[in-house]
Amino acid sequence: MSAVILDGKRRADEVKKELSEKIKGYKASVGAVPKLVALEIGKDSAFSVYVKSQGKIAEAIGMEYELISLAPSTTEKELIERISSLNKDNSVTGIILQCPLPEKFDFIKVTSFISADKDVEGINPENKGKLLLNAYRVVPPTSSAAMELIELSGVDLYGKEAVVVGHSSIVGKPLTMLLLDRFATVTVCHIATSEKGKLIEHINRADIVAVAVGKPNLIKGEWIKEGAIVVDIGINSLDGKIVGDVEFESAKTRAGYISPVPGGVGPLTTAILMRNCLSLFEEQNVTAQ
Ligand code: NDP
Repeated sequence: MSAVILDGKRRADEVKKELSEKIKGYKASVGAVPKLVALEIGKDSAFSVYVKSQGKIAEAIGMEYELISLAPSTTEKELIERISSLNKDNSVTGIILQCPLPEKFDFIKVTSFISADKDVEGINPENKGKLLLNAYRVVPPTSSAAMELIELSGVDLYGKEAVVVGHSSIVGKPLTMLLLDRFATVTVCHIATSEKGKLIEHINRADIVAVAVGKPNLIKGEWIKEGAIVVDIGINSLDGKIVGDVEFESAKTRAGYISPVPGGVGPLTTAILMRNCLSLFEEQNVTAQ
């Protein structure tokens, strides 16, 4: 058996085409386009690829994009002031804070200052709470991308055993909520699951496996249940190559559907970030009219 590839790049191209057409329409009808402003503290080469791709995609779909690079010496107070002034600026649709923030910043405090109406990544505490209450408007793009790839399989998730590996507040936890929302039966694994040697037994019985850890080849192909949906969110550099958290070649022979790294969750994440920005623009400019 060789799994069907959940092609994130192809889905991202479709999303970008839909966005580009909508933005063209809004330019004609409301005379404005969404504007995404990204804030970064210092220049971190590990994230420069992601930041560059945001600018490129925004330009390709006709969205405005501004990258504000703040000096590494920026204080928390200065960052919060900068966010507050973007909140007040009516020309700004969405704000993205390039993460992870340097350790000197209190992440929860800083993100709570991003207006919930401009929070394209769904990371401020209000929007995270809404996800828990099933009353969300924007979802963290990576979790949303993983969910969209799972749904691309066309498999009915009702009552299926889903295992999410990794419980970070920006990826694993939001994805858990999305899967619960689709009535999958969800188990969340983390470092303690691995340390107690229990990861294998959870993966063995999973109809859906979503992994967001950041450890190459953590999930062995032979653990995967025949026919399972496997979505690999991890991004790791190994021997000069970008790989995920799942042993792709061996997992592919057992899974029914699998997302590759690169070319899976990554490209779709950036496209969904833009889609979130357009949704906020619609709230701010179209539904308000
Ligand atoms: P975090 O480091 O915040 O979270 C990693 C999670 O994995 C934690 O919950 C941690 O548990 C858990 N974990 C660590 N070691 C193990 C283990 N041996 N077994 C099981 N669980 C373990 O990372 P992120 O959630 O931010 O990112 C995860 C991965 O996803 C990274 O590779 C990152 O690069 C990638 N990523 C990809 C994106 C994309 O667009 N494709 C976007 C964002 C992230 P604990 O906290 O208990 O130690």
